[in-house]
Amino acid sequence: MKCPTCETSMRSRTESREYDPGIEGASITLLDVEVHRCPHCGEEAVGIRNLLGLHRRIAQELVSKTARLAPAEVRFLRLHLGLTVTDLAGRMGVTRSAASRWESATKPLAMRATTERLLRLMVAVEDGAPFETSRLSELGLGEVSPLRMRLRASRAAWRDAH
Ligand SMILES: [Zn+2]
Repeated sequence: MKCPTCETSMRSRTESREYDPGIEGASITLLDVEVHRCPHCGEEAVGIRNLLGLHRRIAQELVSKTARLAPAEVRFLRLHLGLTVTDLAGRMGVTRSAASRWESATKPLAMRATTERLLRLMVAVEDGAPFETSRLSELGLGEVSPLRMRLRASRAAWRDAH
């Protein structure tokens, strides 16, 4: 691979990288990410494979976490569903202003537990992820806690790395 800036051949190696999904406080470490670096000008290109799969894996983690969803996590799931705030408000049967405050760091409004479970269920259905409805009783009970993940890309999907 040639450097896009100076055309020198880039050197490749695998490194661990933090991935920022736009969720404040989340720590997502990707192992064995291919990084190309130019020895001449320092230009760097990071190749994250299967970005859609990575977002699915993060969404799945949020769907099944027992703690309450933080505002930024609600936003991540809404965007993952490809919905606007107005869309989400319509599906949940609340006003647009209420739905926008679910994601607000400054004027937060806690989602009702039922609504939060419905959001998780919507994501599971849309992603075609296996979901036992008996698990609903365990979700969204604890205090908000930051997302911590260590992931490694395997052939078809991103998997937990320990
Ligand atoms: Zn260069």
